[in-house]
Amino acid sequence: MLTAEIIAVGSELLTPTKIDTNSLWLTERLNELGVELKLKTVVGDDPARLEETVRDALGRSDLVFVTGGLGPTEDDVTRQVAAAAVGLPLVYHQDLEDNLRERFRRWGREMPEINKRQAWVIDGAEVLPNPNGSAVGMYVDLGGTRLAVLPGPPRENQPMFNDFVLPKIREFSGAIVFRRRVLKVSGIGESALDEQIAPIYSAYEDVQTSVLFNKSEVEVHLRAAASTAEEGDRINAEIAGKIVEKLGIAVFSTEGEEMEQVVARILVDRGETVSVAESCTGGIVAQRLTDIPGSSAYFVGGVAAYANEMKTGMLGVPADLIERFGAVSREVAEAMAQGMRERADTTYAVSITGIAGPAGGTEDKPVGTVYVGFASGDCIRSLHLLLPGDRYLVRWRASQAALDYLRRQILKN
Ligand code: AMP
Ligand code: MG
Repeated sequence: MLTAEIIAVGSELLTPTKIDTNSLWLTERLNELGVELKLKTVVGDDPARLEETVRDALGRSDLVFVTGGLGPTEDDVTRQVAAAAVGLPLVYHQDLEDNLRERFRRWGREMPEINKRQAWVIDGAEVLPNPNGSAVGMYVDLGGTRLAVLPGPPRENQPMFNDFVLPKIREFSGAIVFRRRVLKVSGIGESALDEQIAPIYSAYEDVQTSVLFNKSEVEVHLRAAASTAEEGDRINAEIAGKIVEKLGIAVFSTEGEEMEQVVARILVDRGETVSVAESCTGGIVAQRLTDIPGSSAYFVGGVAAYANEMKTGMLGVPADLIERFGAVSREVAEAMAQGMRERADTTYAVSITGIAGPAGGTEDKPVGTVYVGFASGDCIRSLHLLLPGDRYLVRWRASQAALDYLRRQILKN
């Protein structure tokens, strides 16, 4: 497999305000060509560091991309530094100067003399035309290793890559494509999950698998390298099938969907409805369920029952239940779900009551204590959780747990 690396040049990319986006776009295009990105670097307008970086890159990667620093000003050093790194002189292209003068004339301006700097090209390099700007790109085949130097502005380097670099790579990259698939898993930690599925994915040499924890779930990213897109998709589907077989209901999506999308799909398929009663999440579950277009098909409504009076008044939670067990309790969560379902007349209701913090925790019920209630026509039950994290995370994770509990209760029946 061909390997590539990208060097983004520009001191502005080392400030807190500007980010290198060129490499994200380039990586996607390279992956489509079956080229694997191994490394990327951001270097300021610093000749010594840049030369060292380009030299190192040429020593270890098949394809090296340098973007930025081709402007006409003093701080743009990529041209001369790239030449030094490959050990070739720069040669002056009078035709490039003529083109530039012509460009300026068309805009009704005189070409500033400093733009002549942009007519220097690495000896033997192929000039990559730039219809959208003044800096041409360069492509040098160093006998195995290839160097492509592209301008910084995305609207200049993207067409240049597509029109002039991509066809070259296609000639020698062979016919490999990368295909991606994301599985999402709930209720199991990153390491426990990896322990279970590593024997499955390690049997596939051409698939790169990463297991990542993401806020409230674990994601399994598959990237199959294959000779056709169909073959790559087939391999990913085969692995996804084996993982689902192993983990069952814990896999909530094999298509990278959000939990609320999955719940919505299940409810729509079954023609069923849901309502929500939320205390500590104050409406997050309702918001997530209504983020999805067409949510009126399954979402009837909800109550953000924060104060005890709302729990008793709006949801019919018996006051003595709150007194005896506390507002954050299994009993109150179940009564909230039951009261919500009866009032909204839905197939199901879910409820949440908990302590999001930072204050309000006790020894018995520390911050992060959350009860999720569930009610259907024939069953009322609840779940006790102790969620880690700050206020934001506890609330988010509680909403995720409620949606997941709903999903699991529905699928169990
Ligand atoms: P330069 O080629 O260094 O003169 O860069 C011209 C412009 O391109 C800069 O003002 C940046 O805004 C933009 N640019 C340069 N490098 C990048 C990058 N890696 N990602 C996104 N924008 C960039
Ligand atoms: Mg620059």
